[in-house]
Amino acid sequence: MPDDAVTMDKIVSLCKRRGLIFPASEIYGGIANTYDYGHYGVLLKRNVVDAWWQAMIGDRDDIVALDSAIIQHPRTWEASGHLAGFTDPLVDCRTCGQRFRADHLDAEHDVRCPRKPSVLPGQGPDCNLTEAREFNLMFETTIGPVQEAGSTVYLRPETAQGIFLDFKTVLGFARRKPPFGIAQVGKSFRNEITPGNFIFRTLEFEQMEMEYFVPPDDAHRWYLHWLEARMDWYERLGIRGDHLRLRAHEQDELSHYSSATSDVEYLYPIGWQELEGIANRGNFDLTQHAQYSGEKLEYFDQQSGERYVPHVIEPAAGVGRATLALLCDAYDEDELGGEARTVLKLHPRMAPVKVAVLPLVRKDGQPELAHEVRNLLRRRMQTEYDEGGSIGRRYRRQDEIGTPWCVTIDHQSLEDRTVTVRDRDTLTQDRVAIDELPDVLAGKLEAPWISPKLLVED
Ligand code: ATP
Repeated sequence: MPDDAVTMDKIVSLCKRRGLIFPASEIYGGIANTYDYGHYGVLLKRNVVDAWWQAMIGDRDDIVALDSAIIQHPRTWEASGHLAGFTDPLVDCRTCGQRFRADHLDAEHDVRCPRKPSVLPGQGPDCNLTEAREFNLMFETTIGPVQEAGSTVYLRPETAQGIFLDFKTVLGFARRKPPFGIAQVGKSFRNEITPGNFIFRTLEFEQMEMEYFVPPDDAHRWYLHWLEARMDWYERLGIRGDHLRLRAHEQDELSHYSSATSDVEYLYPIGWQELEGIANRGNFDLTQHAQYSGEKLEYFDQQSGERYVPHVIEPAAGVGRATLALLCDAYDEDELGGEARTVLKLHPRMAPVKVAVLPLVRKDGQPELAHEVRNLLRRRMQTEYDEGGSIGRRYRRQDEIGTPWCVTIDHQSLEDRTVTVRDRDTLTQDRVAIDELPDVLAGKLEAPWISPKLLVED
């Protein structure tokens, strides 16, 4: 189990208090497993997605971007196997009316009887569970005003299938040959049964998926490549290495089409859980869609004269789960001047706000100079101006959202155009000339970084 101060309740309450992430439809009492992201949450999530695009298309030449539709032709889900097989076993309790996943009725999943939370569902004196039945996780809707035969469509439960559908089109204009990848970020929808655990499992969620098409004989080599590359990516976000692991699926866990799958797992406060799945999907998807659509989905190598259906390696990550891992990994509590402090020790590049500009007092020309400094910095990095409350309270507010640096304008600033830069983690305050400030902070942002929580653990 996790070894530090963080609990899911503390993360939930910080996110709500500071407006990062909060329950959706709250004025109506909320709606199951659905959350909204506020200002700082949007900035944090955007940093995660930007870092993913950087790794996929900024740092390499062999991957192209795609944004496919959420509602695809319904045959898509027949071909992919989702219509028949994307199910969870469901049980109802006849007493309390709650639904549970039959395969999650154990202590590991921490699902509790709502009437008697000290026991698992089914073990309370009044529990009366139905037999398990298969329940499809896809949300169904209809195209057109009348619910008539043939107009049933589905909200995509994964972004990957849109990539397979566009394989031929992309191959036509991308001027790429295997090995090459198609990457996409977008919302997916699953009618999940298991409630709780904040944004870990939600009904709608953003996925970052990449399908990497390779010659069949090279598939295993590329599978190993992506295992390493994806673990490395999470560490580069600043997540502690001892809170990350790769777990290979057992033979009986593998999907019927996959010859190998591994999960990147993070040690959340609820234990080790999947952050991302990396699968060797073979040629299953392209073959299925070729068969169902009648289109040839293959690659013809003009040089060798060889024609083949590429195999696919898929790293599939969740934006929400990565954001939650960052929050859990960064959350810390310490004491400052005899007062408890909550601080997010985020990697500066992940922090929603990089720098806060704070005039010490709201007079003597300090706010004017602070606005000038803010304007100087805002083009280079996400900057916030705050003049409300004591300086200590303002520092504390920035600590809570993980702002790595606070720039304070004081009386000396008006005399010699220098400011102090306070560091969130070391709490040092250095004097820097205003003219040099943008470069000094940009340099700090680019500098190598490891979690200060690791330094304390050592
Ligand atoms: P789980 O076993 O936890 O349900 P999964 O194996 O079904 O996950 P995949 O189909 O491999 O998940 O989806 C890829 C990624 O999408 C997951 O690793 C996760 O980060 C994210 N994801 C999947 N379902 C959800 C969900 N309901 N809420 C938030 N993120 C999700």
